[in-house]
Amino acid sequence: MNNKSRSFESDRQLSGNEILKAESDGLRSSIALELKDDSPTFSNDAAQILKFHGVYTQDDRDKRSTLRKNGSELAHMCMVRVAIPGGRLTPEQYLALDELASDLAGESLRITTRQGIQFHFVAKGDLKPVVKAVNDALLTTYAGCGDVVRNVTACTAPRSDGLDLQMAEIADQISARYKPASSAYFEIWSDGARIDQVEADPIYGTTYLPRKFKIGIATTDDNCVDLMSHDLGVVLDPALVGQVGIVVGGGLGKGHADPGSLARLAEPLCTVRTEHLLQTIDTVLSIQRDYGDRSDRSRARLKYLIESHGIEWFRREAEARSNFPFMDFDSVKFSDSPSHLGLNLSAPSRPYYGLKLPSGRIKDTSLVALRTALRGVVQDFRPLISLTAKEDLVLFGLELEQLEKLRARLDSDGVQLSESLSPLTRDSFACPALPTCGLALAESERILPTLIKEIDDELKLHALSDSEISLRMTGCPNGCARPYLAEIGIVGRSKRSYDVYLGANRKGTRLGTLYAVDVAFDILRESLAGPFKLYSETRLPGEGFGDFCHRIGVQELTKRYAPAPRRTRKAEPSKSGQS
Ligand code: SF4
Repeated sequence: MNNKSRSFESDRQLSGNEILKAESDGLRSSIALELKDDSPTFSNDAAQILKFHGVYTQDDRDKRSTLRKNGSELAHMCMVRVAIPGGRLTPEQYLALDELASDLAGESLRITTRQGIQFHFVAKGDLKPVVKAVNDALLTTYAGCGDVVRNVTACTAPRSDGLDLQMAEIADQISARYKPASSAYFEIWSDGARIDQVEADPIYGTTYLPRKFKIGIATTDDNCVDLMSHDLGVVLDPALVGQVGIVVGGGLGKGHADPGSLARLAEPLCTVRTEHLLQTIDTVLSIQRDYGDRSDRSRARLKYLIESHGIEWFRREAEARSNFPFMDFDSVKFSDSPSHLGLNLSAPSRPYYGLKLPSGRIKDTSLVALRTALRGVVQDFRPLISLTAKEDLVLFGLELEQLEKLRARLDSDGVQLSESLSPLTRDSFACPALPTCGLALAESERILPTLIKEIDDELKLHALSDSEISLRMTGCPNGCARPYLAEIGIVGRSKRSYDVYLGANRKGTRLGTLYAVDVAFDILRESLAGPFKLYSETRLPGEGFGDFCHRIGVQELTKRYAPAPRRTRKAEPSKSGQS
């Protein structure tokens, strides 16, 4: 890939992260040295580079204020993210990760919205054995985070036409091609010898990309990965063999106090022959590498480059860098975004069972020994596993009879089967937020079950219990659980208040619009009563809730039903404890 190192921003000061990357000695920084010291955490400089190795430094935020008050050291810990292209795991790999959770990683596994697995509560002193155990299972944490191509998403639930296998293969190819070339990972985590002396990565150069870069793959009849939220999306049309569509410029993260920040859907770039796919991705990455904003990280994602310069400019630049023709790609049409839950026989010779997980969290609780039950069925039935971008599990690779026995075993172990859950529960998930995420403004994963219960109760009042409505919640506007693509998006604003978005569609091709601002958690249910009532009374046949809100107009719904922003209300019930 031709590294032109040009930038529109060359006269502006580079951000601190750019300097850290350039001076990191090929992603080494002082990580190896600091792993040997007694400090419970890493220096800030090392922590930034550590992200490229799939590790975030965190502290337990439940304990933060007490520890600070007492003048004590914070409860430092690390999050370790395993990148799993297309979310596919063998039973042996799953069991290895489960064992790791038992031994060193907080007794829980957390499926992410990018089909990876995160371990929280890992002590700094346990990092090397954790990463080693991941590697021993033929998996990696390298590029799980950092300013590089992140884990590649693709729906790998079995299909009758076998496109799942093609997507898995493409995901593997992309993943392998865009791992950083530096041998730093091997040296630091496996005590390997330094192989490379020159650290200019052939694809990324010395400063890698300006920000993270997300690539996904989807078919036109299955957009469960929310392709339009990616920096670059690959679209396969089952009716068109030998070519793929490319979309660019999606991304959902934004800031409450940053009016220029935006959630944005990707736009069609071109159609190319399948054999030109990797070269096309090379080209897109090179433009982002050369022109992306390196002075302001809040504007460094590809979406801002395309937003400011336009898709036509981007297409011209990409064509000029390519030695094969681009074909037109006028518009992206997805027909569905299924959840893949329950017993699925659409590919009769390749049945699967999709298990709903509570926001992707696999752990034993006082209510159900979910992790133990899953370990048991994986040990005894040896299914293949596909982690979904909706934080659930698909189990497959078994004869139907075996799959049914597996399902019955989960049931007898007390695991709530997907088909016994309310439609709202089935189509809801949250980001981790508190107590692990350093950016969380509000609860998310831990409070989602309470919110689902309240909203389910409200839906019942309007005879909407059977309606399929998607709900996603995040602890801040960065949007990790893609709330702006849910029919109801709940986004943390302060400790106990949230913004509410309505009007996204179920196919993942329209963003929600801000409906209510700064709504106290205690009245989230009440804030939705008006739209639910109107939907129940006036929806068109077959019309989804998101489409209904869009048709009526979210601004109109706000005018009629949204509560006033919390801080302008007169009295706050003291029991809510909001700040
Ligand atoms: Fe953390 Fe915000 Fe992402 Fe949730 S959306 S995990 S709070 S950064």
